[in-house]
Amino acid sequence: MVQSDRGSLHGYAVKAAPPPNWGLASQGALTVSDQNQVIVFYDERMLAHEPDIEVPFLPGRMDTRIRSLLSGLGVPWKYPEHPARLTAIRHLLEQEPVSGMRFETGMAATREQLARVHTLSYLDRIFRLRGQNVWLDVDTTAVSPGSIQAAEVAAGTAIAAVEAVFKGQTESSFALVRPPGHHAEPVRARGFCLFNNVAVAAAHARAVLGCERVMIVDWDAHHGNGTQDIFWADPDVLFFDIHRAAPFYPGTGSLEEVGDGLGDGTNVNVPLPADAGDAAYLKAFREILVPAAQWFRPDLILVSAGFDPHSHDLALNVTYDGFAAMTGILQALAREQCGGRLVFVLEGGYNLISLSRGVRSVLKVLAGEVPPEPGRRGIAEVEAAATFHRAAFVEPGVPEEPDNNDQVRHRE
Ligand SMILES: [Zn+2]
Repeated sequence: MVQSDRGSLHGYAVKAAPPPNWGLASQGALTVSDQNQVIVFYDERMLAHEPDIEVPFLPGRMDTRIRSLLSGLGVPWKYPEHPARLTAIRHLLEQEPVSGMRFETGMAATREQLARVHTLSYLDRIFRLRGQNVWLDVDTTAVSPGSIQAAEVAAGTAIAAVEAVFKGQTESSFALVRPPGHHAEPVRARGFCLFNNVAVAAAHARAVLGCERVMIVDWDAHHGNGTQDIFWADPDVLFFDIHRAAPFYPGTGSLEEVGDGLGDGTNVNVPLPADAGDAAYLKAFREILVPAAQWFRPDLILVSAGFDPHSHDLALNVTYDGFAAMTGILQALAREQCGGRLVFVLEGGYNLISLSRGVRSVLKVLAGEVPPEPGRRGIAEVEAAATFHRAAFVEPGVPEEPDNNDQVRHRE
């Protein structure tokens, strides 16, 4: 248990001098030529979640309102959270395998496992929708006949990924799941999410696997309102969420939302402007996330990994190198704090190319590749080209000035 200085987290995070280049410096030392095993969990039952936007809304009174909202968009609206999200990732990883990675099948979560973070009345309401085609909420969440089992398998697969690292089968793992989870609240399905997969996994680690403290890092473009809600007053779950600021969906995640009661100080939000990218994400990781984790001392680090902050997707400007560098920092942190136990759970990501390539960039780092510093790709080539071309632009016969002159130094 972290006892005394919980309230100091935010003061520390803001005031403390950042450890210079903490993450990358450490991970470089830790991953030298290591070939790690990484287990990727995948289960075809999650492909049966195929909401149809033409079906009626529940409750019926919402139907008219939603129809008018959708018709006002001006373009046909399709359900963006569809099965091809998972099959695109699977396909890429089969075509371009990551050395050290292997697939395993997931499992369905039990009612008891889900009830650690959702109310029984909510679960009963969801379970009654088996076999139906309906909308659940004004908030973009619908189900098809296979959706309830898909959601049970998504949550159970996140648990399987956590169990694999605690059994020592792998240092780190990645649960490729859908429907996603981080918008799902204890009593409400929201934003394509039915059950909060990462929260179910965190609760399982604490209830069954002997974890006292769990850190959840959410780098999806959207704020993880459901995860924040579930652990709002819980001092043993540190929730760090970096996202595009309100009014972007779901509109929560302000700096001032820091938790409450015993959990005061263990909820850390970093809202960003729409065009923020790698530099902002990495600065937040190094200067806020790392000291927060060192203060909290987690037994496990979970990642709500959405790939919609990629520049090809909905918001923000993170690159593949950015995802890789963040993974490197988390890997180093997990090795320092909790024996390397690091589990990724898929959240959003709707551009199939950046989604699948983003997942692959994470897996390569988990498997042992040292990530490049974002923004440095091509710089070595430009330096070589500059050296190659430099002499062409010097007037013949002009005397060379030796002081502070790179051109002269290169030609020498
Ligand atoms: Zn998202």
